[in-house]
Amino acid sequence: AQERYASIRDLPAETKCGSVIRLDMNAGLMADLPSLAGSGAEGVGLFRTELQFLVRNKMPRRGELSSLYSTVMNAAAGKRVAFRTLDIGSDKVLTYMKPNDEPNPAMGWRAIRVGLDKPGVLRMQLQALIRAANGRPLTVMFPFITLYEEFKAAKAEMNKALAREKRLGHPVPSSFEVGAMMETPSLAYAPDAFFEEVDFISIGGNDLKQFFFAADRENERVRKRYDTLSPSFLSFLQMVIARCEKTGTKLSFCGEDAGRPVEALCFAALGLRSLSMRPASVGPVKHILRRVDLGEVRKIIDASIADGDTSVRRPVADWLAYQV
Ligand code: PEP
Ligand code: MG
Repeated sequence: AQERYASIRDLPAETKCGSVIRLDMNAGLMADLPSLAGSGAEGVGLFRTELQFLVRNKMPRRGELSSLYSTVMNAAAGKRVAFRTLDIGSDKVLTYMKPNDEPNPAMGWRAIRVGLDKPGVLRMQLQALIRAANGRPLTVMFPFITLYEEFKAAKAEMNKALAREKRLGHPVPSSFEVGAMMETPSLAYAPDAFFEEVDFISIGGNDLKQFFFAADRENERVRKRYDTLSPSFLSFLQMVIARCEKTGTKLSFCGEDAGRPVEALCFAALGLRSLSMRPASVGPVKHILRRVDLGEVRKIIDASIADGDTSVRRPVADWLAYQV
């Protein structure tokens, strides 16, 4: 599939109307990194760090993590890699760090909630990332941030880790960005101060949709009832985009939907300028974006919503079929 899009691999995802959409790839294993060159992605918009924790039966050591992160950064050769701190709980359970039986693990003690309540692992991970960066730029994002206060607490851990490394005489990153994943609707209603403080927001659409529609992402039967391209979800996204535009906050979308052509097109038409997806989707999404005028897509979306459609998918997909 990558060969099919080889001719546009090094070209930007620039639409006919002149908007440039940044396309990154999602990764989680060293083995994913070669795709960075092959896919045409600009960087890694989501590096899921939990896999290294899931593949073993005891807690990895700081040194092991640090050398793995350093290998990832070396393989990325200066391209931006957004490392997401550990997102365990929910569907990803560690045998050596089990929460008590929870009736609703997806809404339970998971991700940053664990990281803040038992900060040992988060601190080790941040330290490993800083050491791996070894004076290079570093991008870290925290999963499942629901409140501004959680972001503040997580960022304070980052600052503490930086100060500690400095004190120990280790090189600190030449620059760093600290972002939050928006995976619950509540974060969209955080105060302006949050949007001003955070370096970037990455929408984790898989979880965000699960909580927006109250439909388990693992349960096909209920998940498929709800469409990402429904007016309700699109209007929610539109609100988040508007808030980010107002405060000048960098916003991207890194759930599975970002890699689906019709979804990607609609997100771009709403104003999203950064999408992160599985490597194999970068080529097809870029191909489509380069062929369209987002103003036209926007008109179709608006007309479909005005018509009372339950999803804009059909009209947008029908239109797209004539463009590519
Ligand atoms: C998401 O929730 O959309 C996301 C990118 O994270 P994960 O799929 O790992 O939960
Ligand atoms: Mg998630």
